[in-house]
Amino acid sequence: MLQTIEVTKTSQKKTKPNHSELGFGKFFTDHMFTMDYSTDKGWHSPRITPYAPLTLEPSSMVFHYGQAVFEGLKAYRTADNRVQLFRPLKNVKRMNLSNERLSMPEIPEDLAMEALKNLIEIDKEWIPTEEGCSLYIRPFIIATDAFLGVRPSSTYKFMIILSPVGAYYNSGEQLQPVSIYVENEYVRAVRGGVGIAKTAGNYAGSLRAQTEAEKLGYDQVLWLDAIEKKYVEEVGSMNIFFKIGGKVYTPELSGSILDGITRTSVIELLEHWNIPVEQKRISVEEIFEASERGELEEIFGTGTAAVISPVGKLKWGERELTVGNGKVGQLSLDVYNTITGIQTGTVEDELNWTL
Ligand code: PMP
Repeated sequence: MLQTIEVTKTSQKKTKPNHSELGFGKFFTDHMFTMDYSTDKGWHSPRITPYAPLTLEPSSMVFHYGQAVFEGLKAYRTADNRVQLFRPLKNVKRMNLSNERLSMPEIPEDLAMEALKNLIEIDKEWIPTEEGCSLYIRPFIIATDAFLGVRPSSTYKFMIILSPVGAYYNSGEQLQPVSIYVENEYVRAVRGGVGIAKTAGNYAGSLRAQTEAEKLGYDQVLWLDAIEKKYVEEVGSMNIFFKIGGKVYTPELSGSILDGITRTSVIELLEHWNIPVEQKRISVEEIFEASERGELEEIFGTGTAAVISPVGKLKWGERELTVGNGKVGQLSLDVYNTITGIQTGTVEDELNWTL
């Protein structure tokens, strides 16, 4: 039987920010979810309490050896005032893949889903209603043993916090193409490593390349495979798609790529539309050659934050290419409008993605 989630509501609701000041991840709602794990009790004491700071031992293992996994998904408010989640079970399942890779305990899927739904229901007034705005959901798990030996922790905390976020694109401009620096020195992940997991250290490790690319005037980096530095893996913290000669390609899940939920959804949508889509190893050289032949039609990144982020420019050593004259391609637009429409309830959810 499902454990009961104990609820303690706040007596002091916070003032909600105006949608124009939301940005990303700056504001947090009135409540949070927590449950604890110990080897003898398993996951226990699920509870929703007022959002508040944590007290942890400085020796907590998460601070030293990085056993930390997280997820990111969004809740949307529809025009008829319903609350919709986009494929949330996929996030719970991915969190368990991350747990497995980081030697952390599996969370019960049904309890995690209940926790998500109950917390969002309690804080649903925080879901912004303005176009493009949503409630970002951040589940995470940290290791809490007060111990400095290197081994898996025997205690953990699973928490969910919620943050109202603004529109990724300014209204009027809809999609904004980004310029990308192909990263030849630093790598994000290796096969057999932790790139397939959504674990904190992957993001720490990516910051330096991102900062250096920004200094050179680029928005984000394109990550290559760690061994040959030839094959495309991801763009920033998004998966990547190419449209070449009428066909769509995305790197196959090589063991070092995060299995994005937007990536899966784009593949399923293209298949639903009978647009050929292939998952395969793709070299940067192939992309530049396709561009020189005039066959490179579109490049776009996919992820929860932006949904679709068109790429306008690619810089690779001394070589540079512009995609589709720097304009946003039709496929990028169609996929963006369909997925965001399904998320917000303006497009029929034919593929049964929302909850
Ligand atoms: N790759 C990385 C490294 C990411 O952090 C994300 C964001 N979770 C993605 C890809 C895209 O995944 P999703 O579509 O599930 O947001």
